[in-house]
Amino acid sequence: MQQFFLDISLNEDQTVPLSDVVARQLTRVLRYRGGESIRLVDAEGTAFLCTVHLRGKFVEAVVGPELDETREVQAPLILALARIKRDKWEWALQKTCELGVTAIVPLETTRVNEPPATPHRIVRDERILREAAEQSERHRIPILERPRRLEDMLQSSVVECPASCGDLKRDVLQGDVQRIVLAERHEGTSRLREVLEGLDQTRPVILFVGPEGGFTEGEFQAMQEAGVAFASLGSRILRAETAAVFAVGTVAQWMGER
Ligand code: SAH
Repeated sequence: MQQFFLDISLNEDQTVPLSDVVARQLTRVLRYRGGESIRLVDAEGTAFLCTVHLRGKFVEAVVGPELDETREVQAPLILALARIKRDKWEWALQKTCELGVTAIVPLETTRVNEPPATPHRIVRDERILREAAEQSERHRIPILERPRRLEDMLQSSVVECPASCGDLKRDVLQGDVQRIVLAERHEGTSRLREVLEGLDQTRPVILFVGPEGGFTEGEFQAMQEAGVAFASLGSRILRAETAAVFAVGTVAQWMGER
């Protein structure tokens, strides 16, 4: 079913006008004629089953019952992914959104070769996240954080985020966060699933994934000194975007939903 996010609160039986962009998609692209069901998710992250009504060139939705479903992971799951090549980056955003990521931090590391993202790119990234969240019928759009340097993230795990993610900010501020680096070629590193066995499913997790060239030895050492847990995804060397998707999927499934 088609889903759209609205930045207002909804109540059952209310009639809400839909934006031009949504109206155009429903009537021109999907050829809705009125009477169809759609999902609307409001500013509180509550999903409602709604019915589309056409009023001349305006499109409205009549809000129906609240949907009793769980779609979000039970604790914040943050992916700190090195800024990899543009097409791979966009792919990773889309897939990790489908898998349940809460926030993505573009990570600056020694071997990152990409130029900084332009404002136009950031808008595009946010659109990718919104569309993936709608497509996968999530209740929240993942937050795209500002780029952070690895060393800064090791000093303080505080992830900056807008007011809408108050819980996330509070949790992370409490220093409650569990940090894991995905490390290839590290003899004796435990598999991610074994590392998770020792962690708490109700506390936030940050996953660090390196760029195409990997993390440097110095960066691994700094992470070790900062108490970050090391985890392996197996003996094969994966592309950064594959590692990000695999790790987010594994952690999201382990955490479960609320
Ligand atoms: N160029 C590096 C590989 C980098 S892969 C080399 O050849 O050694 C990019 C990132 O994906 C890594 O920094 C790591 O975070 C993650 N990654 C890739 N394969 C992995 C594996 N088998 N286990 C854990 N992490 C992996």
